[in-house]
Amino acid sequence: MISNIINKLYSELPSTVKLVAVSKFHPFEAIEEAYGAGQRIFAESRPQELLSKVKRLEELRQECPEYMSDIKWHFIGHLQTNKLKMVLPYVSLVQSVDSQRLLDAIQNWGAANGRVVDVLLEPHVAAEDTKQGFSPDEIYDILGRAVGTNAYSHIRFHGIMGMATFTDDQTVIRSDFSALRNIFETCRKKFPTLSQDFTELSIGMSDDYPIAIEYGSTMVRIGSMIFGVRG
Ligand SMILES: *Cc1c(COP(=O)(O)O)cnc(C)c1O
Repeated sequence: MISNIINKLYSELPSTVKLVAVSKFHPFEAIEEAYGAGQRIFAESRPQELLSKVKRLEELRQECPEYMSDIKWHFIGHLQTNKLKMVLPYVSLVQSVDSQRLLDAIQNWGAANGRVVDVLLEPHVAAEDTKQGFSPDEIYDILGRAVGTNAYSHIRFHGIMGMATFTDDQTVIRSDFSALRNIFETCRKKFPTLSQDFTELSIGMSDDYPIAIEYGSTMVRIGSMIFGVRG
């Protein structure tokens, strides 16, 4: 049962690690059940799915205004710049900022809407071939501009989000998490004025979260372990 697994996770996660329940591909009722067990942060990876769940909740709140009033949504998927308005008004954190183009679009949206958007930057360390994700140097350049210029006046940088290579080989997973931790710590050292906000290292999913915690995870994103395998 969803509530048993949530309770078990909370009993074993260190108090410094936030649990993000990844509810993608699962119905709104599963979110209600997890919320009932005390879970508050939920993450979605597709704009349309996030929006339909947010709208469902808005409907329920017409009857009951305080219903699930302290739920928080994170976005963790690839976000196209033409979909920002489906996502940014509703989420407390965009974890998956993976390109300069997306970052610039978020800054423009924030400026136009009078909002400061909370983000994590996503470096690419895993072995899979993808054009998404920053190199470490790109991340240091961005943060350099964030402290040295007005370029990101409507963005607040909270840390790093990453994924390990999709493999059973623990050596590879450890080396990826180690690389992500290294980027995170380098950012904090290079840019001490950001370090008050720059506190999150979002690593760890259902299959690898215990290892991620060894590498300093502050935020684990767990889907299938809580909700089952679906989709
Ligand atoms: C789906 C997803 C997760 C959760 O994965 P599980 O293996 O189901 O726990 C975590 N992070 C991201 C970015 C995802 O897309």
